[in-house]
Amino acid sequence: MARAYLSCGSNLGDRAGYLRQAVAGLEQAAGVRVLRRSSLYETEAWGPVEQPDYLNGALLIETELPPHSLLDLCQELEQRAGRKRLVRWGSRTLDIDILLYDDCRADDARLQLPHPRLSERLFVLYPLAELANGDPLPLIGDVASLLANCKDAGAVRYYAGADEW
Ligand code: ADP
Ligand code: MG
Repeated sequence: MARAYLSCGSNLGDRAGYLRQAVAGLEQAAGVRVLRRSSLYETEAWGPVEQPDYLNGALLIETELPPHSLLDLCQELEQRAGRKRLVRWGSRTLDIDILLYDDCRADDARLQLPHPRLSERLFVLYPLAELANGDPLPLIGDVASLLANCKDAGAVRYYAGADEW
């Protein structure tokens, strides 16, 4: 059984509803158990395109799925939420990224692990730090020191508790 950290985000429509749909879809999938949810944070959109604010959260899951099958599941749940890939980094109903999968490294056309932009984004690090709760994580170590060194200046506001999704 592997442990993986996922980052979930939405900035279109019923954002919290899409994030709830992500948790429900993972819980219903064979070979996946959601162990912990972070609080939800509202964050300013990042990247070259002007777009609405995001809701972001992170999940710790336990899974029997190998990394690429877990990515398939994440992308299937994005599709089920009606996600359309129009512009890179554009608005989306649901984005589910794999941040870490045990101490596994990957670098192929579909999957990079640890997630390559993990330490550059406050909206990833805030909820991840909450889940790590001071313990070092595989491959990346102490999330608090990544947060302290993060150059992202975007605003991150607490939005709702872990039981809200
Ligand atoms: P982003 O999440 O960077 O905003 P997308 O969700 O559109 O953008 O993902 C783009 C591609 O990133 C996907 O097609 C997927 O194959 C690839 N990818 C590489 N590594 C990962 C990972 N760790 N988690 C999720 N997707 C990944
Ligand atoms: Mg993604």
